[in-house]
Amino acid sequence: MRPAAVLTTSACMLVLAGCAGTDASPVRIASPSVSATTPTVAVSAPSVDVARAPACKVGPRRTPTGVKRFWTTDRRCYTSRWFAGAHRRMIPYGCTSAPWYAPSPRCSGRKGFHHGLDLAMPKGTRVYAGVAGRVVTRGIGSAYGDRAVIIRSRGRDVLLGHLSRRVVSHGDRVRKGDLVGRSGARGAPDGPHLHVEVRPARGSYRDAVSPRRVLRLKVTR
Ligand SMILES: [Zn+2]
Repeated sequence: MRPAAVLTTSACMLVLAGCAGTDASPVRIASPSVSATTPTVAVSAPSVDVARAPACKVGPRRTPTGVKRFWTTDRRCYTSRWFAGAHRRMIPYGCTSAPWYAPSPRCSGRKGFHHGLDLAMPKGTRVYAGVAGRVVTRGIGSAYGDRAVIIRSRGRDVLLGHLSRRVVSHGDRVRKGDLVGRSGARGAPDGPHLHVEVRPARGSYRDAVSPRRVLRLKVTR
């Protein structure tokens, strides 16, 4: 009984440590003095804040070939109406040193331009329609995997890339909150993540704008 309780405490602390970031108001857990005298307190009676916050699963920091996966110093965890759980940004929208993109004239040095925003998340994470719209699955292009989805809504396309599973079909109408599919790594060289890209309806990736307003990320930790 006792070793199991200790193990649970360690696992919990590891998850918390992995999510520690620069958030100015970090999640409160039991104070060190309380933990030292009664080690099981944090597990048996977590503070309300910890209980409410979804786990932030970071995943591997490198690809199987040893290349970095995270190209940002942002270590905060985010929730969004577009996906289940809380997750970290992997590659932000815009100029990046990530090696997956050809040098772009829009960027200084040899940096490439990332037209979407990548959120690291375990394969199989639920992905939802964050807005109501019409589903487009044809003509998206192989760079986003063969199960990518576009939700066309109010004059813009929201592309969800690298899905491992798609539960909607071309032409479907979806409401806000409907399940669209599951996250994955199809077409991605750098492991499971959700690529979110926002373009004008029927536009090209070259017309993509920052997806942050559509994503409405909320910091949890
Ligand atoms: Zn991406």
